[in-house]
Amino acid sequence: MTKAFDNYEVWFVTGAQLLYGGDAVVQVDGHSTKMVDGMNESGLLPVKVVYKGTANSSEEVSQVMGAAQADPRCVGVITWMHTFSPAKMWIHGLQKLSKPLLHFHTQFNEEIPWDTMDMDFMNLNQSAHGDREFGHILARMRKNHKTVVGYWKDPATLGHIAVWERVAAAWADAQDMRIIRFGDQMNNVAVTDGDKVEAEMRLGYHVDYMPFSDVLCYFDAVKDEDVDGLVKEYFTLYDHAPALEDSGSLEYRKVWNSAKAELTLRAVLKDKGAKGFTTNFDDLGDYNVEKTGHGFDQIPGLASQRLMAEGYGFGAEGDWKSAALCRTVWFMTQGLEGGCSFLEDYTLNFAGGKSSILQAHMLEVCPLIASARPKLEVHHLGIGIRKTPTARLVFTSKVGCGVTATVVDMGGRFRLVVNDVQCIEPKPLPKLPVASALWIPMPSFEVGAGAWIMAGGTHHSCFSYDITPEYWEDYAEIADIEYLHIDKDTTIESFKKDLRMNEVYYLLNKALK
Ligand code: MN
Repeated sequence: MTKAFDNYEVWFVTGAQLLYGGDAVVQVDGHSTKMVDGMNESGLLPVKVVYKGTANSSEEVSQVMGAAQADPRCVGVITWMHTFSPAKMWIHGLQKLSKPLLHFHTQFNEEIPWDTMDMDFMNLNQSAHGDREFGHILARMRKNHKTVVGYWKDPATLGHIAVWERVAAAWADAQDMRIIRFGDQMNNVAVTDGDKVEAEMRLGYHVDYMPFSDVLCYFDAVKDEDVDGLVKEYFTLYDHAPALEDSGSLEYRKVWNSAKAELTLRAVLKDKGAKGFTTNFDDLGDYNVEKTGHGFDQIPGLASQRLMAEGYGFGAEGDWKSAALCRTVWFMTQGLEGGCSFLEDYTLNFAGGKSSILQAHMLEVCPLIASARPKLEVHHLGIGIRKTPTARLVFTSKVGCGVTATVVDMGGRFRLVVNDVQCIEPKPLPKLPVASALWIPMPSFEVGAGAWIMAGGTHHSCFSYDITPEYWEDYAEIADIEYLHIDKDTTIESFKKDLRMNEVYYLLNKALK
């Protein structure tokens, strides 16, 4: 299991009361300890579960929830009612907790001990009604949470907890996430823009702008020998034509320039403690860079590809929402094998039942989704203010199922749009030397693309082979934002109803809380 989440823990709090005497609570405590140990030893949970004892009164609940809220290691709380725990005693504590909450409806005993069961056994094993009492207060308080139902040793049950743990950890990661924008939104683009103040209030992350004059200070500080070293590293990591290594060639110089751009961006991001960034092909430094050498000679595409693979969130053309979501996807899938990337709906391919969408970008696709070792190539790039060759990693994505997602600002609320997609084998694109994926959106090209467009979804999205829609459902629940999922069962008729219903729901939602 990955070490990525070692700095985090989730707390496990068992609800009980003193009505049944101290002995009962001692047993509740013992059972809870065994359960938490068993969950940790299962190897199925990426974040360690820490048992915090029984809560038997309003004061005890308040104390433990206040402590959970204050402890930076704690990314969420799991509650379980082993006995009946009168839920008014949870009100004040739950009011203190704004971290992710999971209500676990399980039972210490797997099956009823038919031959020996008596009233004492029932008094202890009361989850069947204790968890309903607790569920009521969550419903009554309109408290966002995830409910997981199942036996605590069942791998399927633990799988639901594992998903929530990953999302809760990524949520914690987003609360001090800083996104640096190198340049603004591409002029006039609506869908990638939005309310950055609301984003910080609602989603946690902070978006800053950095003028290119400041970037140039970092650019000037990059040492030539470090650039030389990084270029050598590229040649060991990626397939490439031997001619690229000819240090007198234009191609070599373009690879070298890309390496310098990478070291520049890396230095900025490290210095600023940023977890993601955006670029803009119109904002690259000195306009006369080909002569002065002062600034990026082309968009830092190779740098964006490699930084994404390290976990920096990326959004093109100033798309800070995608940059943040991209980081969150990378963060929550750490240790999983499939890979993730920022992608753009590039070009449609009409082919009957196999109609699909080519996913690519100018250059910036993350090599974590590559089906084979990427190839380092230098080609002309004629978009943006520079029209000059530049380096990039070229590959096609793996074949298989995945999920893509985007967040759009609807004015008054954020909307998370999620689509299950199937990546299929592309045909060669000899005249388009960029990384790409080719997918069919579920349930079909027509309905999948149609629903996404009706929801106002972006042409940019954050794709992963590893995550399931359950991740996004948990994320939307924690963030308290709108969630729209387009899957194999979606019809345009039902989707339109969802859009209309959500419009009403979100108008009334604030009044209800
Ligand atoms: Mn784009």
